[in-house]
Amino acid sequence: MSITNEYFIRLLDRVKKRNPHEPEFIQAVEEVLESLEPVAERHPEYVKRGIFESIVEPERIIKFKVPWVDDNGVVQINRGYRIQFNSAIGPYKGGLRFHPSVYEGIIKFLGFEQIFKNSLTGLPIGGAKGGADFDPKGKSSLEVMRFCQSFMTELSKHIGPDTDVPAGDIGVGAREIGYLFGQYKRLRTEYVGVLTGKGLNYGGSLVRTEATGYGLCYYTDAMLRDHNESFEGKIVSISGSGNVAIYACQKATELGAKVITMSDSNGYIVDKNGLDLPLIKQLKEVERKRIKEYVIHHPEAEYHEGCSGVWTVKCDIALPCATQNELDEDAAKTLIANGVMAVCEGANMPSTPEAIAQFQSHGVLFGPAKATNAGGVATSALEMSQNSGRRSWTYEDVDRELKDIMENIYKNSCEAAKEYGMEGNLVAGANIAGFLKVADAMMAQGIV
Ligand code: NDP
Repeated sequence: MSITNEYFIRLLDRVKKRNPHEPEFIQAVEEVLESLEPVAERHPEYVKRGIFESIVEPERIIKFKVPWVDDNGVVQINRGYRIQFNSAIGPYKGGLRFHPSVYEGIIKFLGFEQIFKNSLTGLPIGGAKGGADFDPKGKSSLEVMRFCQSFMTELSKHIGPDTDVPAGDIGVGAREIGYLFGQYKRLRTEYVGVLTGKGLNYGGSLVRTEATGYGLCYYTDAMLRDHNESFEGKIVSISGSGNVAIYACQKATELGAKVITMSDSNGYIVDKNGLDLPLIKQLKEVERKRIKEYVIHHPEAEYHEGCSGVWTVKCDIALPCATQNELDEDAAKTLIANGVMAVCEGANMPSTPEAIAQFQSHGVLFGPAKATNAGGVATSALEMSQNSGRRSWTYEDVDRELKDIMENIYKNSCEAAKEYGMEGNLVAGANIAGFLKVADAMMAQGIV
C-alpha cells in the first residue's frame, strides 16, 4: 500500500521537507495518511479546513538543556524535550523516554502516535511525548535523582494537571516518576496529579504498572476470540524485558499461553519450559541486571547475543515489546515461515512498514501499537480521574475498566475499517477511529 491521493502526496512531501533527518516521524505520518485516504475523500470539509496539515504539526515544541553533576563531581549536559502535539480533545498526555537514542524526531513520532492512541481510549486526553538523551543504565540512583530534578526544574514551567500530564516510557519507571514528582511539588508547592505512574502511597493507581502489558493481552485476546481462537495452549514470543514485556508475559501466561522468549538490547533468552517470571522480575525490576543472567539460574534455557534473533524462535503469537523498528521484513518472513498466527505490538512502532505488509498479505492477525498498547495511557487517565476526585479505586474496578477499554478499541477499529472499505485492516481501523474524533473536535474549535 502506498499513498495515491494527490493532496496527501503533496502533504507528505511538505512534512518531509519541514522535518528533514527525522525518519521515524515521517514513517509514522506516512502510515497514518495512507489509512486516511478514504476519509479525505468522504470528508472534503476536513481538507478545506486544513485539518490534515494541522494534525501533522505539533502545537508546541519545547527543547531544553539539562545540566547535572555525576558522582565524580563532573558536570554532564543532556538535552530534554516535551512536544505538545495536539490538545483538541483534552490536556496533553504522553510519556517521557530517557534513552541515548532520543532526539527531536523520536519524540515527534511518539507524540504524533499518541494523538490517535489517546483518542482511541475514548478518554479526554490530547497527545504529547517528552524525554531526554540521558542513559539511566549504569547510573547510580543518586545520579538518576539529580538528573530528574534538573529535568523537572525546566519541565515544570510547561506542565500542570489541566495542561499536560507526563508519564513513564523507556527508562522512566516508578523510581524516576517519584523523583520527578518530588521536584515538581518542591518547585510549585502544589500536591496535584501532574504525573501518572506514581507510587500507590502518593496518588498512583492500582493496575497502572501492569496496564500496558495487560492491555496488550486483552486486545490480543479480543482479536483471537473474534477469530474463534484464544491464548490457551499457544506459544508466545516476547521481545524486551521492561515494564511492557514483563506484564504482557504475566497476563498471556494467566490466559493459558506459554511465553518462551524475552530480550534486552544485548541479546535474548529462550526457555522452552516457559519463562520463570518471578526470576525475571527480580533480575530486571529489583536488581536492574541484564537478561543473560537468567541462564545462570536456569542452565537448561538458552541465551543468544543480538536482540533481533528473538524472531527466529518458532511461536504462535509474537508480542514485540522493546522499541521502534525492532521487527523488520526478514524477521516477519521468518515468523510467517514458522507459522505465526498473530502479532500484536506492545512497543511503539516496533514493526517496519515492510514487516506489516508481510503480515497483512499472509493473513497473520496484526494489531498495531496505537491500539494494542493504549492500556497504559488509558489507565493513566483513570489515575488522573482518581487524583482529581481524591479517591482510589479498587484493583478490580481499574482492571475491569482497562479490559472494557481495550475490547472497545478492538471493536471500534474493526467497525471503522469496515465502514471505510478496509475490513479486517486493524491498522487502518485504528488510524481512522482515532483520527475522526480529534478531527471533529478541531473543526468545532475553529482555526486555532
Ligand atoms: P522499559 O525501559 O521498561 O524497557 C524497555 C525494554 O526494551 C528493555 O528490555 C530494553 O532493553 C529494550 N530496549 C530498549 N531500547 C532498545 C533498543 N534500541 N534495542 C533493543 N532493545 C531495546 O520500557 P517500557 O517497557 O516501558 O517500553 C517498551 C516499549 O513500549 C517502548 O516502545 C514504549 O514506548 C512502549 N510503551 C510503553 C508504555 C508504558 O506504559 N511503559 C505505554 C505504551 C507504549 P535494555 O534494558 O537493554 O535497554
